[in-house]
Amino acid sequence: MAGLDFLNGELEELKRQGKYRLPSVWESGSGAWMDIGGRRVLQMASNNYLGLTDHPRLKRAAVEATEKYGVGAGSVRTISGTLDIHEQLELELARFKDTEAALVFQSGFTTNQGVFGTLLQEGDVVISDELNHASIIDGIRLTKAARRIYKHKDMDSLEQALRESSGYRTRFVVTDGVFSMDGDIAPLPQIVELAERYDAVVCVDDAHASGVLGRFGKGSTDHFGLHGRVHIQIGTLSKAVGVVGGYAAGSQALKEYLIHKARPFLFSTSQTPAVAAACLEAIRVLQDSPELGERLHASASSFRTRLQADGFDTGVSETPIMPIVIGDSARTMRFSARLLELGVFAPGIVYPTVGEGKGRVRFIVTAMHSDEDLAFARDALLQAGREFGLV
Ligand SMILES: *Cc1c(COP(=O)(O)O)cnc(C)c1O
Repeated sequence: MAGLDFLNGELEELKRQGKYRLPSVWESGSGAWMDIGGRRVLQMASNNYLGLTDHPRLKRAAVEATEKYGVGAGSVRTISGTLDIHEQLELELARFKDTEAALVFQSGFTTNQGVFGTLLQEGDVVISDELNHASIIDGIRLTKAARRIYKHKDMDSLEQALRESSGYRTRFVVTDGVFSMDGDIAPLPQIVELAERYDAVVCVDDAHASGVLGRFGKGSTDHFGLHGRVHIQIGTLSKAVGVVGGYAAGSQALKEYLIHKARPFLFSTSQTPAVAAACLEAIRVLQDSPELGERLHASASSFRTRLQADGFDTGVSETPIMPIVIGDSARTMRFSARLLELGVFAPGIVYPTVGEGKGRVRFIVTAMHSDEDLAFARDALLQAGREFGLV
């Protein structure tokens, strides 16, 4: 059978380029310390910002929902797969986000397929930050809308794109709330102002801002006090919220439109009862436990300040996501491997995920990391950093 032989050729090519990599396999759940290959290592890579994956209230909600409803929802949302817990989750999310309504999807990724794949039509134009997430890019690709890319966070570039796209039915401006590779925050107030001036729709994808920015982790719209001025807030339930899922929050009309048209909503089975119930409990825990977010931000800023004082280049990070910029791809991967030998897991991220020559080892500080954990990480970084001539 020769049909798929080309796969081996392409895999060989990946190996030659040093890009062949299978996922690390972990032997314990997402905590500050995790087991890999029979060893405990300090992981600084998860999006489990608040440690909610292991929260007793979420686990209890998941077990109780499983006992009551079983392990699967049994159908897509529009047939018999909308359970009362799905509806409660949407009501709680709308309240939390201070929007009229929210619609839940199976993941952040499918939310973006649903939202962009549905709302953008021929005759529209979407104007997107060049560093937006792959799921936004793929959602846009599903449509016949015209597309313009503006330079990362560059408001002159955004304004130029808005000015040059006056002939379209609807202009959509879309941005990540927090950018996942650099840990910088979108200039949402300026984006909203420009969008209002040019009568454009604003959509922010708060995957890395959900549970992280704003009061109780309500997101970047709340962080900047822009309630009522952002048309679509996308969020994930998979990162700081600790479970899996995504949602679009906005007007009731937006929700009802997506219910009728969004293909992941119509044609893929809804979240399992355990997932829906754990997400619902997570949104309540966020509002009951502001100390989790306070701990997250205090740890992140003290870790960043120390690394910068040590001479590491943390790029433009202003959130718990902290790249240590190294540059060359192979050297970046060697640095990450050396850190793992020293007991710290932080992945190397290289071209094409980031630009050529912009390789970095990405650290994510969480509320689970103790001061001792962060001191351990810093010691490992200093040792590897000296060996590599970075500090
Ligand atoms: C992680 C991420 C997603 C995907 O969310 P999942 O719930 O993991 O599918 C979407 N958008 C952005 C900006 C992300 O960072």
